[in-house]
Amino acid sequence: LAERLQGTIKKITGKGKVSEQDVKEMTREVRLALLEADVNFKVVKDLIKRIKERAVGQEVMESLTPGQQVIKVVKEELTELMGGEQSKIAVADRPPTVIMMAGLQGAGKTTTTGKLANHLRKKHNRSPLLVAADVYRPAAINQLETLGSQLEMPVFSMGTEANPVDIAKQAVERAKEAHHDYVIIDTAGRLHVDDDLMDELQQIKDAVGPQEIFLVVDAMTGQDAVNVAESFNQQLDISGVVLTKLDGDTRGGAALSIKTVTDKPIKFAGMGEKLDQLEPFHPERMASRILGMGDVLSLIEKAQTNVDEKQAKDLEEKMRNMSFTFDDFLEQMGQVKNMGPLDELMSMIPGANKMKGLKNAQLDEKQLAHVEAIIQSMTKAERQDPSLMNASRKKRIAKGSGTSVSQVNRLLKQFEEMKKMMKQMTNMQKGKKGKGMNF
Ligand code: GDP
Ligand code: MG
Repeated sequence: LAERLQGTIKKITGKGKVSEQDVKEMTREVRLALLEADVNFKVVKDLIKRIKERAVGQEVMESLTPGQQVIKVVKEELTELMGGEQSKIAVADRPPTVIMMAGLQGAGKTTTTGKLANHLRKKHNRSPLLVAADVYRPAAINQLETLGSQLEMPVFSMGTEANPVDIAKQAVERAKEAHHDYVIIDTAGRLHVDDDLMDELQQIKDAVGPQEIFLVVDAMTGQDAVNVAESFNQQLDISGVVLTKLDGDTRGGAALSIKTVTDKPIKFAGMGEKLDQLEPFHPERMASRILGMGDVLSLIEKAQTNVDEKQAKDLEEKMRNMSFTFDDFLEQMGQVKNMGPLDELMSMIPGANKMKGLKNAQLDEKQLAHVEAIIQSMTKAERQDPSLMNASRKKRIAKGSGTSVSQVNRLLKQFEEMKKMMKQMTNMQKGKKGKGMNF
């Protein structure tokens, strides 16, 4: 807890302007993060240049350190590069709207076909027809039929003998008869981009004139995904990209390069194997992820909205007068807790995702509970004046809170350190107008 507060305190002792040195330090880190995340080096170079131009000399916002502010600029630039939120799906003038899925084998086309159908029904109240046009593997048809029955949605199939182009054409006819407003065609893939595959896809495209061609790419394949996207786009003029397997530990730099190379929007993100694990693509979240910094900014925002301004002012007053007590401490803890479950908070802290997140978070949660129990076992007088504490009082408190004397001692020590820190900070802040605490 002391550490958390210390971090927050550092935040408010910012300087007035972002210096060239700040930017230089930050962009070095950013460059590394981007390259590590598999972002094309040319993209990185352009980006860094823009960031430098934008960030140097900016006024530092009240709530951010210069470092955080540079990160904010970086994030905005990355988000911009990936386009706004783009989860819209075309609607044909006359139904059905035809969506064609394309991509390499194993990218997640069949799964995404099911997910998309589910999304269209749930979010847009549509009634899609699924089409099994991957005739090369019997298992592919079965796979789609299984998804169809899970979703209780019809699957159009003509077995493995039929021609994919005929299947697509007849499926559209069927959809008209049965009043389906969407047709989603699952096509075959190959291990690599080849002419046969492209020919077949081109023929299907010509035959049914889809409103959307979604290229499904596996985010785990990194730079390869970018090359695949480029070839498919050149040949088929795709309308959008679905990036799958983002639930894995890939940094997702491919997303950035794909958008840059194809200039087509990434519309959806696959976040798992289940049928409801398809999300609209959020460029902003992706930007954070690429930087590997956790959702720093939303953590800061969260902290800001959760602190009652008046409480913060009172607290500041107390610190000035050095009358900060264990009761205030308890209140502070309540606020930290109000910010949400600790494991969720942890995941937003940079670097925390590299630690064995959950385990640590659980531990923290437990520690917080102990701290709370200890303070609650103190008498009113003890809370106001910790110097009253002696061996027998500590023993009583430990017993009352189900902790040990050494845990009580540790808390007392942390409390003293915190007070000391606050004193230093108050001294630093003297002369500056009071703006309320930021934690
Ligand atoms: P296709 O060959 O392009 O049709 O690919 P499939 O739809 O058969 O998917 C290949 C494998 O990837 C299957 O095991 C899927 O369950 C899995 N898969 C697809 N999308 C995702 C995703 O977003 N996350 C994860 N973890 N697995 C996925
Ligand atoms: Mg398939």
